[in-house]
Amino acid sequence: MKVNIIGGGISGLAAGCFLQMNGFETHIFEKHSIPGGLCTSWKKGEYTFDSCAHWILGSDEGSSFYKIWAELLDMKKINFHNHDIRVEVGTKDHANKYGEKNFKLYTNLTRLEEYMIDLAPEDEKAIKDFIKPMRIMQKFDLPPILDDLPFIPSMIRGIKMTRYAEFLYWFLKIKNYTNYTYAKKFKNPFLRESFELLYDGEEVNMMILSMPLSVFDKKSAGYPIGGSMEFAKKIEHTYLSLGGTMHYKTPVKKIITENGVAKGLLVRILMHWMENLLIRICLIFVILKSLKYFIRLCNSHSELEKT
Ligand SMILES: Cc1cc2nc3c(=O)[nH]c(=O)nc-3n(C[C@H](O)[C@H](O)[C@H](O)COP(=O)(O)OP(=O)(O)OC[C@H]3O[C@@H](n4cnc5c(N)ncnc54)[C@H](O)[C@@H]3O)c2cc1C
Repeated sequence: MKVNIIGGGISGLAAGCFLQMNGFETHIFEKHSIPGGLCTSWKKGEYTFDSCAHWILGSDEGSSFYKIWAELLDMKKINFHNHDIRVEVGTKDHANKYGEKNFKLYTNLTRLEEYMIDLAPEDEKAIKDFIKPMRIMQKFDLPPILDDLPFIPSMIRGIKMTRYAEFLYWFLKIKNYTNYTYAKKFKNPFLRESFELLYDGEEVNMMILSMPLSVFDKKSAGYPIGGSMEFAKKIEHTYLSLGGTMHYKTPVKKIITENGVAKGLLVRILMHWMENLLIRICLIFVILKSLKYFIRLCNSHSELEKT
């Protein structure tokens, strides 16, 4: 069975790899001349400018995401750097008790808690309430990998998974706050201003702050040394070694459909007829998570065709 994939970003490359591993013949059509899509970086002199992978979930061996990445690249060959400080914010109006006008968002939660309490002992409760959900989230390895299991072990796993209700509870609780509404919990004006400025003054959901911090503390979301482009090229290398074909500088102009069914691709001025399936570019996390199920589905479909 042949599959045409539009887009050589991480999703397209990952889709290509998993399909090749499972016996499909794939072609990736990419309008750019390089792989990676948004996952890119470039060099200027001795500097690497990175526009993407500032943190790769699953950089620590043993986590679920590590296992998924390890199917696509040799994770042992990638060095990850774990930053001590996630972001340092310069305040405009208020200084801390040491006269400094910068707030450090440490990635180590214990250090962060101590630092914040030292700056604002009057806000101890609000600070501890900020740290607590992250400590709870850390207990859960996400995404839970649901391998095929016989009936009884699968039932036992299902029962154990009810403990994810605790994660859901805290997720929904934090989701109600933004950095602005959380800032209002602090009496200390320096902390309040710092929280409001964490995202260049933008108001964002607290999950965007808390979720990454919970994994940074575990050293489970490092920066891949070499940069995003090197990271993407490694997945491209896996794809090519699995026998996949890349078509660079090949924008897909149109998907040809017949009666609502995708039948072919209009590539530049040429028509490239599809064989069986077409995958459009889609979100990285969704594709990584859903591909196994998709491939399983296709395999069972082709098994049916054989019989
Ligand atoms: C500033 C920034 C920072 C980020 N930081 C992180 C981070 O720290 N950690 C993290 O995990 N994620 C991060 N992300 C998110 C991550 O980059 C994306 O989720 C991921 O790269 C998306 O990959 P994709 O393959 O789904 O899409 P894309 O990367 O958008 O790939 C789509 C590809 O399809 C090609 N294409 C589109 N249309 C056509 C067409 N008609 N014909 C042929 N080719 C076509 C494009 O050229 C592109 O190469 C960041 C994103 C941004 C923008």
